[in-house]
Amino acid sequence: MRNALGLMLASVGAAVVIAAVWFWTSSPRADLTVAATLSAPPAERLAGTASAKPIPIPKDVEVTATIPAKPPVPPQPKAACANPDALGVSRVVEIDTTGGPGFGFEHFKQLDLLADKEIVLTFDDGPWPVNTPSVLKSLADECTKAVFFPIGKHATYHPEILKQVAAAGHSVGAHTWSHANLNSKKMNEQQARDEIEKGFSAVKLALGAAPSPFFRFPQLQHGPATVSYLGSRNVAIFSCDLDSFDFKAKDATQVINSVLTKLEKSGKGIILMHDFQKHTAEALPVLLRRLKAGGYKVVHMKAKAPLQTLAEYDEAVVKDMKLPVASTRPVNNVVQTVTE
Ligand SMILES: [Zn+2]
Repeated sequence: MRNALGLMLASVGAAVVIAAVWFWTSSPRADLTVAATLSAPPAERLAGTASAKPIPIPKDVEVTATIPAKPPVPPQPKAACANPDALGVSRVVEIDTTGGPGFGFEHFKQLDLLADKEIVLTFDDGPWPVNTPSVLKSLADECTKAVFFPIGKHATYHPEILKQVAAAGHSVGAHTWSHANLNSKKMNEQQARDEIEKGFSAVKLALGAAPSPFFRFPQLQHGPATVSYLGSRNVAIFSCDLDSFDFKAKDATQVINSVLTKLEKSGKGIILMHDFQKHTAEALPVLLRRLKAGGYKVVHMKAKAPLQTLAEYDEAVVKDMKLPVASTRPVNNVVQTVTE
């Protein structure tokens, strides 16, 4: 009897040890966190024997079905998506902006980068308090990415918000300095160039880093001279496939319905929205859920290389921001606490 009990205890102990070893070596959580990095070295090794270049695995796309070659690897600095049912990013595309390619079938029909059900989220006119951070939170909750086209002046008002946009991994282009219509008869070629370049320089100043060479015309109004100019600067032009007209919406529901109705017709496309708009910020959590439910997949557009801004415009923006200094007295000389 005592022998039988001892044998039983020993078996249980052995089972626990085996289970612990199995869990340590094949924990599914460990697979998920290391898969993205572990997948890269074998691809490089393969490249030595094949003539094709290794296919880079975008960092933003989760690899879900890879068996790790070697345990253990230090954890990734970037946290995995906490939402298992997130909209996410299905594909990251890198854009070579040489020659100024145009995107968005409303105006440019040469480049069709999206498959059926694929969408690109884009946001104009920020950065703006409350609304832009709210949009960023909604995108983060769904582990998805977008392209932002900030207005230069707004970037100088709220650089800390624009920094948050870039820090979250979104692409940041520009949308002119003052949101002027560059196709207006009042605007000459030089003024249009100034609007474009100063816009980019303002974004650079706000970010402390060069923006993506991605540009959207205010009101989607472009003329041949400015399009050629952007081509010479190797800046990609973004029109859209689907204008939400969210700035005309009376509430969040109208924004949601506008986007979904138009998407049902087009089946895919670059969606134009405004992080500047309150109703868009309010609509986004539900809209992103509905996009997921509708089977839409987000494609994230990234620039192959950042834009080289022009020094004269970088200086012009800095000069614009400097107010004339009337007094240099220190704060404790000017402000005295009299009651506390
Ligand atoms: Zn705009």
